[in-house]
Amino acid sequence: MGHTMTARILLVEDEPAILESLAYVLSRDGFTVATAKNAAEAAAVAANGSVDLVVLDLMLPDGSGFDLIRGWRGSASNRPMPIIVLSSRDAEADRVAALESGADDYVTKPFSPREIVARVRAVLRRSASSNAGGAGATPAPIKPVPPLSTDARTRRAEASGRALDLTRVEFDLLATLLGSPGRVFTRAELIDRVWGDGFRITDRTIDSHVKALRKKIGEAGAEPSWIETVRGVGYRLTDDPASAETT
Ligand code: CA
Repeated sequence: MGHTMTARILLVEDEPAILESLAYVLSRDGFTVATAKNAAEAAAVAANGSVDLVVLDLMLPDGSGFDLIRGWRGSASNRPMPIIVLSSRDAEADRVAALESGADDYVTKPFSPREIVARVRAVLRRSASSNAGGAGATPAPIKPVPPLSTDARTRRAEASGRALDLTRVEFDLLATLLGSPGRVFTRAELIDRVWGDGFRITDRTIDSHVKALRKKIGEAGAEPSWIETVRGVGYRLTDDPASAETT
């Protein structure tokens, strides 16, 4: 198994804008990227056995991604090639079908390119450690990756691939939390970082900015509880939005 940093990723996607943005972020992160616009191209590229992981759109102009997965999983190749499925359909049935047909992970459109990079890394890590550990190895559970991003240079923020229209304060709050995932920031620390010390900002003011930020994240289609309330302390970016407190 190659090193994660030089892993060769095959991107299969017929929408040029998505293909280009994914190819761009993956190459920028050090991956070698091959692309295919349809199922026939994908099968041809994967056939030479040099692909470490496939990011696969389910609906392709010349067939279904499911057929590709079944072909790859049914082949005599002894080298497991992890597959991350992309789909615009978010039906539970599709997710189950993708995973049952042998996909390793499943992402519903719209997504942010950074989310895909994080999932690619997680799946490669898991596949490398299960290969190294042999049959008895237990794969580590994959933590969900927040579909949130901020770009300090352009001051653009995204949730689930959609641009967020944030105030200066909301942007800085989100960027601060995203900068240290899991770390709990006290309200005093947030005031310090977002307003600068010397400002007299009340806790209630912070809370109302967080509330507004969560609302915009939710309107973009992401889970507002990615920003977790840590009672009596402050806020943090959680890795478990399903059970995070927001009150
Ligand atoms: Ca498609």
